[in-house]
Amino acid sequence: MNALPYKAYEQLEPITKAQPLVTVIIPFLNEAEVLSTCHKRVCDALSILHQHCEIIYIDDGSQDSSWALVSQFTHRLHQVRSLRLSRNFGKEAAMSAGMKVASGRCVILLDADLQDPPEYIPDMVKAWVAGAQVVEMQRKERHGEGWVKRTTAHCFYRFMSYISDYPITENVGDFRLMDQKVVRVINTLPERTRFMKGLLAWPGFTRTILTFDRDPRLAGITKWNYPKLIHLALEGITSFSTKPLRWATMAGLVTSFIAFVMAMVILTKTLVWGDAVAGYPSTILIILFLGGIQLLSIGVLGEYVGRLFIESKQRPLYILMEDATMKPTFQSMGA
Ligand code: UDP
Ligand code: MG
Repeated sequence: MNALPYKAYEQLEPITKAQPLVTVIIPFLNEAEVLSTCHKRVCDALSILHQHCEIIYIDDGSQDSSWALVSQFTHRLHQVRSLRLSRNFGKEAAMSAGMKVASGRCVILLDADLQDPPEYIPDMVKAWVAGAQVVEMQRKERHGEGWVKRTTAHCFYRFMSYISDYPITENVGDFRLMDQKVVRVINTLPERTRFMKGLLAWPGFTRTILTFDRDPRLAGITKWNYPKLIHLALEGITSFSTKPLRWATMAGLVTSFIAFVMAMVILTKTLVWGDAVAGYPSTILIILFLGGIQLLSIGVLGEYVGRLFIESKQRPLYILMEDATMKPTFQSMGA
């Protein structure tokens, strides 16, 4: 990556106090153990930029003392905003809430558990200053994650980029920087089922990929489990592609063709040689096979109808319960 001196940020005009250079969005759920360290490390990383920035914490329905903690966070130079959702709406909704209110010229999404090291923020901003409108952070190593999770994640990314109509970079999670322009486009996407990897990739724009080592969780436990991940995968597939419907149609066409050929063979054998039709096992096999294909196709169809049903209700993505904004302390002290 071409190295730009940090001074370059200061040459970005106009920079007003009203518009922060960077907004860092941090969604969290029950992360009381890590939030203080997270805040400190994010502030340290931002201080390298020597610019007024904004940090937005989104409490996605935490049951522990996380909210009491973040709503007290302040910084001398940066605005610290904490939003509290009325219940757990999921990380995707929490990130969307943050992006709606983010006022920075560029926006960074970050996990609270410090698996995405905030120390990369200056490099990401540097790439943005150099012209990239999206800076994707690609994981080199996934420390602290078992081979089962690594393999399933790899297969999922492969599958998604195969069925998607536009590229979704492999091993890039939510940790990324986006120009405010890109964020505004994403904010206009109205869907309720928010498969973020797909949504974030959808607008396009100029991209740069930086690689990083994903750290293990600092403390606490992951909020994901396999049923949740399978749900996410199905949501991703059905909200981003209609290819499975096409496959169901193709399976129907192929089986109909095979059935037609078999009917011709049996008819000819019976008419020409007078063979009695034998084969109870093959009949059962064919019935089961066709039954399976039919159920699968109905299931696929059902997934899409279910999505339509959820979308048609037009419910809000999240509900904001509290909003605590801490202006930079040097301002409130009249400095
Ligand atoms: N998170 C959230 N809402 C949820 C689940 C997770 O805001 O419903 C947050 C969580 O607190 C963390 C980030 O999303 O800051 C990533 O979650 P986690 O570390 O559990 O996922 P993993 O890194 O294991 O994929
Ligand atoms: Mg994590």
